[in-house]
Amino acid sequence: MSDVVVVGAGLAGFHTAAALRRLGHQGGLTVLGAEEHAPYDRPPLSKAFLGGSLTAADLALDDPDAPLDVVWERGVRVVGLQAGAAGAPHRVLLADGTDRRAEHVVVATGADAVRLGDHMPGAHVLRTIEDAERLRAERLAGARVVVVGDGFVALEAASTVVELGAASVVVAGPEERPLERRYGPELAASLLALHARRGVVCRGGARAVAVTSGADGRAAGVMLADGTHLDADVVVVGIGARPATAWLAGSAVVRDATGHVDCDARGATSVPGVWAVGDCARWNDEVRGPMRCAGHWQDALDHAATVAAALVGAPAPAVTEPYCWSEQHGVMVQVAGHLAGGERATVLDGSVDGADLLLRYDRDGEEVAVLGMNRPREVTRWRRSRRPRPVPTPLVAAESGPTRSLEDA
Ligand SMILES: Cc1cc2nc3c(=O)[nH]c(=O)nc-3n(C[C@H](O)[C@H](O)[C@H](O)COP(=O)(O)OP(=O)(O)OC[C@H]3O[C@@H](n4cnc5c(N)ncnc54)[C@H](O)[C@@H]3O)c2cc1C
Repeated sequence: MSDVVVVGAGLAGFHTAAALRRLGHQGGLTVLGAEEHAPYDRPPLSKAFLGGSLTAADLALDDPDAPLDVVWERGVRVVGLQAGAAGAPHRVLLADGTDRRAEHVVVATGADAVRLGDHMPGAHVLRTIEDAERLRAERLAGARVVVVGDGFVALEAASTVVELGAASVVVAGPEERPLERRYGPELAASLLALHARRGVVCRGGARAVAVTSGADGRAAGVMLADGTHLDADVVVVGIGARPATAWLAGSAVVRDATGHVDCDARGATSVPGVWAVGDCARWNDEVRGPMRCAGHWQDALDHAATVAAALVGAPAPAVTEPYCWSEQHGVMVQVAGHLAGGERATVLDGSVDGADLLLRYDRDGEEVAVLGMNRPREVTRWRRSRRPRPVPTPLVAAESGPTRSLEDA
């Protein structure tokens, strides 16, 4: 029997395993992953990998010269979890009818790209290496491209296909201006100006209802709710991601209404010995905001370090401010701090005309976040200035039952 089974061989799963070994865990460690690939980094999928300047080998997370001492099982889909009663091992159920037993199970199954209905003939999403390869294989030079969605991944895809020579790129998003609701009018105006300068048309207030196809089965465009049809040779759908946690249905692991696994501030779920990290998890974290939902690269790393520490009985790493970034048309957008909604933004420097901007966000008179466009130094300085805080106690899971560290087990 393995001491720890990690379900999901993505960023969070990989880093959980790496942190466990780094912290001295010497027991069995198995990582189960549905993909055939070794764990890889996803951010380049909409940027340099899609653009062709990185290969799949460049995305690999494990170091070929010093590989992790882990049993990797690739191409295996987990379909269920049976929690062990009274100290008995948990059973992780695989699609082939076999199981893996472990005292501790780390749920790291990430998220799946949301699709525009069940039928998206010839249209693309961006979540896996294969998705990016398929889009890259399209004849993008000279193509009319419609990108559905106005979040970071959609805007990055728009920027990369421009770079690849698309004849026209329309971003059809539900907001009047991209990312306005979350980050405010200043960033929205800047992004609009940036994309417009590169020839991308951001069509706001556009509710896409379907991808249409021609007689050849290829995507022919996108139908909007107001009856407008946006003609396209290539359609990319970037409307978000949904936690890949359906396999936990029927288990005692509590998920919220959106399917995220509910966790305390150390990643413990409602079932002792079951933990969750990365995009599939929602951590109850007082510093970063109550019931904060992950979805960014840095969250996956922070979760992994915290859960690994809990598993080996080490002190929890201090909680730092959330952080994420995006890159569009060569401009680095970075956000540090926690935006819960309703903050007021102030322009500290630069202007909203495009590629140079520094914003500060305040909530109830307190500075809570900064956003920089091409301002890496200022954002880094702000992150360093924020004192990491200890993980709050008591833990949610500790109230519903004992959490066992590997040392106790
Ligand atoms: C195109 C793209 C660009 C991004 N760019 C940025 C960026 O610029 N900045 C940023 O901060 N963040 C970015 N992100 C977000 C970041 O990559 C994610 O937050 C991170 O990958 C989350 O890691 P994870 O391990 O939780 O999930 P994933 O990386 O999705 O890994 C989950 C793994 O679990 C596997 N799995 C799922 N279900 C099962 C099952 N039932 N059985 C076995 N295995 C299963 C999946 O196949 C997958 O390999 C981007 C994401 C994407 C998709």
